Amino acid sequence: ASALARAESLITSIPDYPKPGIMFRDITPLLTDATALRTVVEALVEPFAGRFDAVAGVEARGFLLAGAAAIAANVGLMPIRKAGKLPRPAAAVEYDLEYGSATIEMHDDNAAGARVLLLDDVLATGGTLAAGRELLEAVGSEVIGIATLLEIDGLGGREALGGDVHAIFHV
Ligand code: 5GP
Repeated sequence: ASALARAESLITSIPDYPKPGIMFRDITPLLTDATALRTVVEALVEPFAGRFDAVAGVEARGFLLAGAAAIAANVGLMPIRKAGKLPRPAAAVEYDLEYGSATIEMHDDNAAGARVLLLDDVLATGGTLAAGRELLEAVGSEVIGIATLLEIDGLGGREALGGDVHAIFHV
């Protein structure tokens, strides 16, 4: 637990980024610390051990954790990209942002029947992870759980997602 507490202490709060009134949680100092990185990656996958065949993460910060978690858990990695970056026809899901909308895309390689653990760095309203899950289901995968480094409580994200949601840290 003290390794986790130390990792948590490395997350830095940046006021008024990217806009006035927003408190941005910057995980970069945690990522750059070898012990903290290993500690949080192992904590992300541990509750779901043995129950998934692949890890998925949403570009861009979800990639950082998903790549590490895939190696730690000895499973495959399913990258979910922002629209317009993939070389072959891809499945797509559009979702609402605070202002406007966004689209995420993925290829369906090895997706049919895969049991997937879906990761992201921060859970706020849950919109990003809900869209990621919808996309994974569209390509035939089953999302067996969702794990996030940091959950911002009180925004309804966990309730919006339902299912098995695991957050290591809370603010
Ligand atoms: P949601 O879709 O749950 O409202 O927002 C979560 C998404 O926005 C995640 O993909 C996350 O990377 C990004 N995000 C929102 N707030 C923060 C924050 O304070 N820090 C970081 N690192 N990412 C954030």
